[in-house]
Amino acid sequence: MQDISKLCCVACGGENLCFGYLGIGGVSNVFIPSGVFSVSGSKTRSFVCLNCGYVSQYLPESKLERLRSRFKQEVEKA
Ligand SMILES: [Zn+2]
Repeated sequence: MQDISKLCCVACGGENLCFGYLGIGGVSNVFIPSGVFSVSGSKTRSFVCLNCGYVSQYLPESKLERLRSRFKQEVEKA
């Protein structure tokens, strides 16, 4: 299970993270899975490492669950 308190910086391993969204003018970036046509895009969340400035993105667990189950359905259909 995802626990954002356990996320750490991919670059330096720092745990001093500031969470937010990537995007311009309040419009968040959206991850659109290819090959899974029944899923609309999922807004990504992101964080910046306050130690080194590395910015990373991830999907919240609720979106991930939905994507996992839809992806499985698409694979079983094929
Ligand atoms: Zn870092």
